[in-house]
Amino acid sequence: MSEYVKDLIAEVKAKHPAQPEFHQAVQEVAESLDLVLERHPEYRSAKILERIIEPERVIIFRVPWVDDQGEIHINIGFRIEMNSAIGPYKGGLRFHPSVNLGILKFLAFEQVFKNSLTSLPMGGGKGGSDFDPKGKSDLKIMRFCQSFMSELFRHIGPDTDVPAGDIGVGGREIGYLFGQYKKLRNEFTGVLTGKGLNWGGSLIRPEATGYGAVYFAAEMLATRRETLEGKTCLVSGSGNVAQFTVEKLLELGAKPVTLSDSNGYIYDEEGINKEKLNFIMELKNVRRGRIKEYVDKYKNAIYKDIDPYLDHNPLWDHKAQCAFPSATQNEINWIDAQNLIKNGVYVVSEGANMPTTIEGVNIFLDKKILYGPGKAANAGGVSVSGLEMSQNSMRLPWTREEVDNRLMMIMKNIHKTCVDMADRFGTPGNYVNGANIGGFMKVADAMIDQGVV
Ligand code: NAP
Repeated sequence: MSEYVKDLIAEVKAKHPAQPEFHQAVQEVAESLDLVLERHPEYRSAKILERIIEPERVIIFRVPWVDDQGEIHINIGFRIEMNSAIGPYKGGLRFHPSVNLGILKFLAFEQVFKNSLTSLPMGGGKGGSDFDPKGKSDLKIMRFCQSFMSELFRHIGPDTDVPAGDIGVGGREIGYLFGQYKKLRNEFTGVLTGKGLNWGGSLIRPEATGYGAVYFAAEMLATRRETLEGKTCLVSGSGNVAQFTVEKLLELGAKPVTLSDSNGYIYDEEGINKEKLNFIMELKNVRRGRIKEYVDKYKNAIYKDIDPYLDHNPLWDHKAQCAFPSATQNEINWIDAQNLIKNGVYVVSEGANMPTTIEGVNIFLDKKILYGPGKAANAGGVSVSGLEMSQNSMRLPWTREEVDNRLMMIMKNIHKTCVDMADRFGTPGNYVNGANIGGFMKVADAMIDQGVV
């Protein structure tokens, strides 16, 4: 690592000491960019790296709401408008008690590079709240969403900032948020993506992140003339990304064997087939239950509660060839990475954002497995969000086949960009460098063109 990058990372840590996830995201990108800065001194003299790690705007606001018993609750709302060099800010909203400024800054930072990789004109942003939607009535969720949007509406717009869903924000929440925006602005626009199909949403948007992560894995395997057919796959999470990852894996003849939630995980050696996936979708999306109920119905599967004292996650300690982390950040540490490799895993395609710690990533890179980092592998969701924006602007919906074909092409292109960039900068097969460099250069060039703003 160059002295320049070392100093930059040290400065970020000193300036924002309580934001470890943001430090981690910056460090990973800055290390890759060392290779670029050597060949492109113009980025250094224009202080692109120093500028790109600073959000263009951070909005923090109070979100008061009243529950069914008349009690008042106060949450914090955030929107990080990170970079708009190549398009309006774009990125999801996360509702989860762990949400804080550092987590959202890491997500917004990653989003800038991811959106650039899609080749669609989208800048990067992220937002959310420390509100916990789990177990809450629809009425409470609606009241919260309305209060959240009562402030957010003045900062967003179809040409300014276009939020979408993320953890804890699915179709139901997007509906309530959109309704409140429409009421306050008195306009029907594509201000949010992930909308319902009969009010401006795009076909394949719910499926896109999971499908995209599987397409990315298929592309990586194709470099070794292999396919997903017959491969055993470990999948974490059981939300939007995990469900559609499993769906696409089944379509391509793979065998998913695990899923999880924040209480524990299930392992089904016989495989999670279509009927079992339908059960999970009903459990999670309609009944909003817990993953452990799976073993009440499918007796041959096993369930394990999360053990907070364990130094690793046993989900990653099963025989398999592929892994699709699809729950949350830092869910694979160095012990998990070693366990994955010991168990035969040689394909990791990240549906979640930054699910692997830096030590874990280094193990994957050292072992030269096919490792697709989140900002490339999970870019399918934001890509179809971009396609939803296009359809909204044209007021013309595309068919399922059209959107799915475009998604597949975008994922192929992202894969190719990663491979080409990694080659060009002397690290063939390193998708981390490929994604970081490919995402960075387009944004950096646009920032230089637009002057110091
Ligand atoms: P989701 O539908 O809310 O599902 C999240 C899943 O992960 C749930 O099963 C949840 O369990 C589990 N989970 C969340 N936090 C956890 C924690 N701290 N420990 C263990 N399990 C946890 O969210 P999602 O949209 O699938 O997002 C999953 C990941 O994909 C996130 O990293 C997100 O940033 C990333 N991503 C999503 C999209 C998208 O289009 N949705 C696009 C790109 C990347 P509980 O239900 O128990 O909380």
